[in-house]
Amino acid sequence: MPETKPFAYCDQLVKQFEAVIQKPIPGRSSFYYTGVDLGTACVVLTVLDDSRKPVAGAYRYADVVRDGMVVDYLGAIQIVRELKAQLEQQLGTELEYAAAAIPPGTDLLDAGAIKHVIQGAGFEVTALLDEPTAANAVLQISDGAIVDIGGGTTGITILKDGKVVYLADEATGGTHFSLVIAGAYQMSFSEADCFKRDPAHHQELLPLLRPVIDKVSSIINRHVVGYEVKELYLVGGTCCLSGMETIIEQKTGIATYKPSNPLFVTPLGIALNC
Ligand code: ATP
Repeated sequence: MPETKPFAYCDQLVKQFEAVIQKPIPGRSSFYYTGVDLGTACVVLTVLDDSRKPVAGAYRYADVVRDGMVVDYLGAIQIVRELKAQLEQQLGTELEYAAAAIPPGTDLLDAGAIKHVIQGAGFEVTALLDEPTAANAVLQISDGAIVDIGGGTTGITILKDGKVVYLADEATGGTHFSLVIAGAYQMSFSEADCFKRDPAHHQELLPLLRPVIDKVSSIINRHVVGYEVKELYLVGGTCCLSGMETIIEQKTGIATYKPSNPLFVTPLGIALNC
């Protein structure tokens, strides 16, 4: 088992965020920072107050983006607009400014579309950053690799002395895990995805999902060649799967750590950069 790495700031911020999703805190600030994470599987809005503490948040599973590309432009605008309206009602104020992020390597591909979706939903876009930069605003690591296993892809970012020295993003993510479950359990994709997200099923699912986790591990192994990576930090919703970190550590031979809830690390980092 990997030893526990102290993710003090990250875990505290995520815990606060989980609490305000359930119970927003209105009236604490005259100014709000919003992060919009337009993911392959999930759209997450995070709202921070003027001292950069979480005050509200909302998310919805959706199929409007694939591998960083907006495939349902109007659907994406609609979801962001609805989540924005929900948060504005909870906070009793208009949310004007938002930052967003794009997966590494997709800036030339689709950064414009992501920006237009957020503007189309009524925000003024203050920053468009890459996902690893967002994640590291919360993780605050200076050496090692951030491995972001999201819905559609696995992103690998290698840092040395606080600087990004290598970036890659490859297909294989939570969608592939859900497809395996759908096939094995004769479920629809969305039933399988929902089944997978329930921690009560994780122990049962781990042997079935092992080949996909092994594939993710081999992707990591391929990309870290030539860099002396001593630590892996897992983020992204797929890493919520209990026990996954142990398999990745065994397959890569690199000490592997994950925060208490890897799903919200990048979305919070986006809002921190707003
Ligand atoms: P991408 O970064 O590839 O564009 P994304 O931003 O939508 O995708 P995330 O929100 O980080 O990705 O993660 C979504 C994935 O995480 C989905 O496949 C979802 O099923 C999975 N996931 C979310 N919660 C859990 C959980 N508790 N257990 C297992 N998997 C989970």
